[in-house]
Amino acid sequence: MGNKKEVVIYSNDKEVNTFLKSFFKNNQNYNAKFIRSSNSLKKELSFKKKIVAILTDSPYGLEEIQELKQKYPVIALVSKNITQGIHTIVKSDVECYLISPFHKDDLENKLGVISVGKKWIETLYECGNNHHAVVELATLFSSTLDPHEVLYLIVRKLAEIIKVDRCSILSINSIDPQYANVISTYEDPKITNIRIDLRKYPEIRKVLNSREMIVVKDASKDPLMKEVQDIIKTVGIRSIVVIPVIFYDEIIGTLLLRTSRKKHTFTDKEIKMCLALANASATSLYNAFLYENLNLEKSKLEKFAITDYLTGIYNIRYFYNRIEEEFSRSERYRLPLSCMMFDIDYFKRINDTFGHRVGDIILREFAQLVKMHTRRSDIFARYGGEEFILLLPQTDEKGAFVEAERLRNIIKNHHFDALKKKINITVSIGVACSTNKKIRNYDDLINIADNAMFAAKHAGRDRVVINPS
Ligand code: GH3
Ligand code: MG
Ligand code: MG
Repeated sequence: MGNKKEVVIYSNDKEVNTFLKSFFKNNQNYNAKFIRSSNSLKKELSFKKKIVAILTDSPYGLEEIQELKQKYPVIALVSKNITQGIHTIVKSDVECYLISPFHKDDLENKLGVISVGKKWIETLYECGNNHHAVVELATLFSSTLDPHEVLYLIVRKLAEIIKVDRCSILSINSIDPQYANVISTYEDPKITNIRIDLRKYPEIRKVLNSREMIVVKDASKDPLMKEVQDIIKTVGIRSIVVIPVIFYDEIIGTLLLRTSRKKHTFTDKEIKMCLALANASATSLYNAFLYENLNLEKSKLEKFAITDYLTGIYNIRYFYNRIEEEFSRSERYRLPLSCMMFDIDYFKRINDTFGHRVGDIILREFAQLVKMHTRRSDIFARYGGEEFILLLPQTDEKGAFVEAERLRNIIKNHHFDALKKKINITVSIGVACSTNKKIRNYDDLINIADNAMFAAKHAGRDRVVINPS
């Protein structure tokens, strides 16, 4: 017991506990103390004794331990909620972890490093095992959710291992080749998407052309950097490494590292590490692009929410919002507001003759045709089925009637692409205008337009009826 090292275990995860119990049973080097409640944990950590490591499950145990802000090294074990578990590890700064299925050798190894007070990644790097360090980091990377976090982790870890003044990942966009975006830089996690002008970065331009990494040992003497000597002097740059980040044969970014004038130039070992990490970051950088695009898609989604999927014009929900607005505006400023209800004549026959699919295509073409011939300020929406509704701000009875007749004729004379034979499609239109005394709210406006449309049907179709009595 005497010279065994003390390890504290805090986990409610069955799988984690089973593994640890069998690991520490009869263990020569470590004395394990299993703790279940957060109160006992606080008590245990407050004793003045040396604990070489706390082993806990992630996310749950680790989240609690983070809140305690304690000083002992932590090894996190992830068994069930793997994505969230790793996510919590990345956020917490814990760099020692195991993912289920657990192996005793791995734990032995990590305990060995951590219990002599060393950092895991740095130890791997120092013993020349770049490959291991990268695999270790890459596992962390690929499992986190937000690619920006991943890229920040890469630059931060890299800057920890190699003492540099600047370490950034830039994204390169083939559409806009004169600029690059700083996606992540270790000086500040909040820096994302700053545009830099590549005319000031001959070293990056060279990498983009040659597709190979470059090392500028002394920026003040290298002929490549001649055109930007002023900047180099002011900023005080000594060495530069630029490595292309390649994803499926395309350069999607670069890893950029710089040291300042007073400091060292890069060693071979450091460059090897950077190369490995540039490779490891490719997938995340690519995902970051997708992520950006996803944000763009959001505004597209907003558009979808007000659009009728079949016809591409506004849906009825949007129409109701707008008619409410427009009606109160017309009342306030005493401006006429007109409404038209359209119902395609004998549309059932079209479906029966040509099929529902063709019917759909005709509905779309009909909607686009009418939309094309209305003013920008008019609001044209699908009311339902083959019925459409048009709102015309600042349009009086007379104007609305003329407009309805014009649209009716455009439709009647249009040849629909989907119909091979020359078949005329006609429409019955009902019109209502807010100047009508019977209209007190926007529901009245819609209802009277609807009644007018039915009157047009009864009168023989293919016609316009306005404000029926
Ligand atoms: P009318 O209006 O002249 O009285 O005759 P109609 O044949 O157009 O009759 P009605 O307006 O009552 O029926 C509309 C038909 O439109 C019924 C349905 O088969 C068809 N329809 C409604 N919505 C859609 C749709 O989204 N796609 C297709 N293809 N057909 C639809
Ligand atoms: Mg109908
Ligand atoms: Mg109809």
